[in-house]
Amino acid sequence: MSATLIDGKAFAATVREKVAAHVARLKSDHGITPGLAVVLVGEDPASQVYVRSKGRQTVEAGMNSYEHKLDAGTSEADLLGLIDRLNNDPDVHGILVQLPLPKHLDEGLVTNAIDPAKDVDGFHISNVGLLGTGQKSMVPCTPLGCLMMLRAHHGDLSGMEAVVIGRSNIVGKPMAQLLLGDSCTVTIAHSRTRDLPGVVRRADIVVAAVGRPQMVQGDWIRPGATVIDVGINRIDAPEKGVNEDGSVRTRLVGDCDFESCAAVAGAITPVPGGVGPMTIACLLANTVTACCRAAGLPEPE
Ligand code: NDP
Repeated sequence: MSATLIDGKAFAATVREKVAAHVARLKSDHGITPGLAVVLVGEDPASQVYVRSKGRQTVEAGMNSYEHKLDAGTSEADLLGLIDRLNNDPDVHGILVQLPLPKHLDEGLVTNAIDPAKDVDGFHISNVGLLGTGQKSMVPCTPLGCLMMLRAHHGDLSGMEAVVIGRSNIVGKPMAQLLLGDSCTVTIAHSRTRDLPGVVRRADIVVAAVGRPQMVQGDWIRPGATVIDVGINRIDAPEKGVNEDGSVRTRLVGDCDFESCAAVAGAITPVPGGVGPMTIACLLANTVTACCRAAGLPEPE
């Protein structure tokens, strides 16, 4: 491997330290404790793990965590009622509704019911519009984490060729907006893109947010490019043996074939330990930002 490893886990720890220091100052100087409300509907196992982790890290940063676990059959009216209460609760500065929601609930409707000022996920249509027009907004956590790592690694991104693979509303599109905001020349690739390897080969910065295990190959990468791998995919790992129930053990991989990409890239994020830890750290940072804005105080840098 010749690439520098961009250690998202270590970077996230420093972000969390800064968040905790800011929270301590908000408490001591202003008597304010930022609060994050997380709403989970149903029992999706992956969502339960994320929500637990978010709650734990919120408390570790010195903030208040309010967890609302609703059963899978909760009606839209009840969920909207809870969001309305949280919107009007002055102790709650950030609200996150864990996605995906059960099928009978309209994700767009629910997301847009959150007060945009408390929308720490940055998915409300107002925040999407603000980001798209280069105005102050709440920025989605995963792309924000990617941008922070890119800025830390490169400094100024101005003029760099960036290729974002994936055009989802939660990762690909906001990532492209952020890179454009930093004056990169941005290409968004997707499943209909012709000659994807050729497009990716143009990039100084590649952000892969596809959801296809190990799709991006080393020979797609321009030598020295920076590769940010957003993908989280679980694949069978027979080399790790079998579980007690006889099923094959699994492991997490990204959207990039790590070995071949790391041999060519200048820098790369690993999976796990890259983008993932930064996502929750940015959620905490967004909650502090929302709290400062609500109180009319200077925001963290
Ligand atoms: P989506 O499924 O919403 O979007 C995937 C995108 O990839 C789509 O735009 C799709 O194109 C594109 N795509 C699919 N197949 C190909 C292909 N063969 N070639 C080129 N493009 C393709 O996924 P998300 O954006 O929600 O997530 C992407 C990945 O990031 C997933 O692995 C997810 O688990 C991970 N993730 C990680 C997070 C973290 O914290 N690290 C947070 C969020 C997501 P089209 O639009 O044409 O269908």
